[in-house]
Amino acid sequence: MRNVAVLGSTGSIGTQTLEIARLERDRINIVSLTAHSNVQLLVKQAREFRPTCVSITTESLRDSLKIELNGTGVEVLSAGDGLIDAATAPGVDTVVCAVVGSAGVRATMAAVNAGHRIALANKESLVVAGELIIPLARQSGAEIIPVDSEHSAIFQCLVGEDAGSIDHLVLTASGGPFRGRAADSFHTITREEALAHPTWDMGDKITIDSATLMNKGLEVIEAFWLFNLPVNQIRVVVHPQSIIHSMVAFKDGSIKAQLGMPDMKLPIQYALSFPDRWNQAHSTVDWTELSALTFEKPDLDAFPCLRLAYEAISERGFAPAVLNASNEQAVTLFLENEIGFSMIPELVERVLSDSGGEPSSSTTITLDSLSEMDSWARRRTKELCGVRDH
Ligand code: NAD
Ligand code: MG
Repeated sequence: MRNVAVLGSTGSIGTQTLEIARLERDRINIVSLTAHSNVQLLVKQAREFRPTCVSITTESLRDSLKIELNGTGVEVLSAGDGLIDAATAPGVDTVVCAVVGSAGVRATMAAVNAGHRIALANKESLVVAGELIIPLARQSGAEIIPVDSEHSAIFQCLVGEDAGSIDHLVLTASGGPFRGRAADSFHTITREEALAHPTWDMGDKITIDSATLMNKGLEVIEAFWLFNLPVNQIRVVVHPQSIIHSMVAFKDGSIKAQLGMPDMKLPIQYALSFPDRWNQAHSTVDWTELSALTFEKPDLDAFPCLRLAYEAISERGFAPAVLNASNEQAVTLFLENEIGFSMIPELVERVLSDSGGEPSSSTTITLDSLSEMDSWARRRTKELCGVRDH
């Protein structure tokens, strides 16, 4: 039996995790749930799964959560450290980290420190703090099993293989909704167009990241930390059908790939079932319906975010954290209709180049210095487009 904390249970990955838990009641016991603002759904989930505790990170919503759960025996944790408390609640042995953005860093660290299994969807944690998380996991014995479909594919290809026999990794990318579109028309792209992903149905932030290819850039950084390979051994190929989820090329010339329908329930379930496979099949490929699997080179001129991510991880230090925070802020501004689509990479690039002259008060990477750089990068992104803090 896995005793599971689901951080971000009201989101796309969180709700799919609970769909699996509903089908696997003998294998999954839900111990804690967290949400940011969707009280109604969190209450519904708490009434169904009866966790021991829940947390909502928006302080002003905590009282209504308490009232709604009065008499159920479900404890409502404090808003401040609620994510961390949920990740380390008594009895938890597995943490599904499905919050979005660098808000997940401290909770991921707490789960790693506790030596739990982490089913990691929150790639931003590794992008920002891989330098801290990976050595800590080695010390504590925490198992980090990726939920991101590409990394789950690589992880599955590597079962039984020696790490020394890998030549390179190939991350596949759908290319997003603007693959092939003329880059000089990107400034006219609307929020609605960018939110219409061709193959995956996901939360808003990752959907915009997929449209700019920043998502693939973040995934290159995530792969760097998870699989401990030099950046030049992590390649990206555009594969619009999203059937091959990623590949590993070995030194003997052999290539292994993992295939399946674009359905996140499979990698979520595998992160919980590993090393086993559970019988619950979510969806599978109908080969008679597939006409072709195609591949093309990513267009780094049209989609500079992927190039910026490669540059940031090659530079190391605070660069990946700055890239991530500036991107999170730029995506928020785009979703609020404050900036155009093509401003996203422009802002990230300018903030990255400005960050050289803006060291945090410490040059050592710690959670505090990372969080200082994160705040600086968000502020600078807003300043550059004339948006004031409100
Ligand atoms: P989402 O927006 O649908 O859900 C995010 C969840 O995090 C919600 O439960 C929300 O309440 C919570 N949350 C939001 N802001 C928070 C904050 N500041 N503090 C605490 N909690 C907060 O996002 P999603 O699509 O489920 O993505 C979650 C993570 O999984 C992301 O890191 C994303 O990159 C990754 N991921 C998602 C998919 C997918 O198919 N959705 C695929 C691969 C990886
Ligand atoms: Mg992915």
